[in-house]
Amino acid sequence: MLLMLVGVRSDAALTAEERAAAERILGAELVDSQAFAILEHLTDRIGARLSGSVGAERAVAWTAERLTSDGLRARTEKVMVPHWVRGGETGEITAPIAAPLALTALGGSDGTPEKGLLAPVVEAFGLDALKALGPGKVRGRIVLLNHTMNVAADYGPLSSLRVQGAIEAARLGAVGVLVRSLSTLDARLAHTGMMRYEKDLSHIPAAAVAAEDADLLHRLLANGETVEVRLRLTCRTLPDVESANVVADLVGRERPDEVVVIGAHLDSWDLATGAIDDGAGVAMVMESLRLLRALGLQPRRTIRGVLYMNEENGDRGGEGYAADHAPQLARHVAALEADSGAGRPTGFTVVGGDGAVAAVAEIASLLQSVGADSARAETYAGTDIDPMRQGGVPLLGLRQDATHYFDWHHSAADTLDKVKPNELAMNAAAMAVMAYVLAEHDATLPRPAPAQP
Ligand SMILES: [Zn+2]
Repeated sequence: MLLMLVGVRSDAALTAEERAAAERILGAELVDSQAFAILEHLTDRIGARLSGSVGAERAVAWTAERLTSDGLRARTEKVMVPHWVRGGETGEITAPIAAPLALTALGGSDGTPEKGLLAPVVEAFGLDALKALGPGKVRGRIVLLNHTMNVAADYGPLSSLRVQGAIEAARLGAVGVLVRSLSTLDARLAHTGMMRYEKDLSHIPAAAVAAEDADLLHRLLANGETVEVRLRLTCRTLPDVESANVVADLVGRERPDEVVVIGAHLDSWDLATGAIDDGAGVAMVMESLRLLRALGLQPRRTIRGVLYMNEENGDRGGEGYAADHAPQLARHVAALEADSGAGRPTGFTVVGGDGAVAAVAEIASLLQSVGADSARAETYAGTDIDPMRQGGVPLLGLRQDATHYFDWHHSAADTLDKVKPNELAMNAAAMAVMAYVLAEHDATLPRPAPAQP
């Protein structure tokens, strides 16, 4: 991946008015932020927001209502979403010892037979090692996909174990798969996440096990003994249901049909209340809009908040927005997403044409006081905004310090206490300043080549 740090100079200098507005935004947000209160309601009062759940629908209704009462032009836009329900889940080692496993079904997994699934375990470190075992060593077994995850940057390369594990294990005749949780902290937590099946292969049950349990299974297997595990999962996939993206406009004063999108995903996993993933991003978007409106800062172009549904297990919201607004994407001048937690802001990733990174860096130079004054070129800036690449929309990711993001990500511990109010406010300020200047500045960002659908 191309990583390029760029200085803060560019041709289109910021105006004195833009600089003054940025100072007002920062001053107001860092002193009197409502971002944490928004997040508290979303997490403590509404709770988990898995697509298709009651929580997700309550989140749609509440955010639309709150944005309206903050003076924005809010509406919902229909999307059909998958409806997977977890049900019950237990697992234990039955031989050569008896011991419970801390595990959780992966999102989209089929359940086990009602009595459970009892089978010997075979271990592989990664998908290539699994393939190397061949069907002779895998058939009829539960595959333990083990790995070593040390830092946040390991998540991308290792996520294929979770996403593709059931496919590759089924291809070799396995009857189930256990994936070591993708986590940077050993707190005996199971971390869920999206997985896939292939139509013509057996849909074997798939669960994540806590790192400590993967280590125990590894030690038992290393001893040369037959290790047996029993899994009972009652998760299942129901028919798709109707849900919605929440869309709210701060209408531009001169060019209202030109749009800067700021977004985050409203859905979460079901194990916790989704404070860092991605309640924090939702709070940043809602707070940015509230603040700009409260300060009377109405930029030249429209700033549109989009709270996408279904990022976690389908991306239907992001795909739906880009499809429904395809004719207008030529007038979308930028789309920004926040979906990497609630740590202090570090800057922006940029998918744009020549000069886009320098232009974003110049705006980001206004954010030195909160540490968000960097911009770097990337090929991807967020799952929900990625489909807008088909319309050649410049994409920006607001990045956070993700050192501890994967300690709690997708686990039962993704709760409000992991978020520091001052850091959340710094992020909201960074988002509001970037959105305001992008919407106000006369020149727009150079557009990237449209991606093929
Ligand atoms: Zn997320």
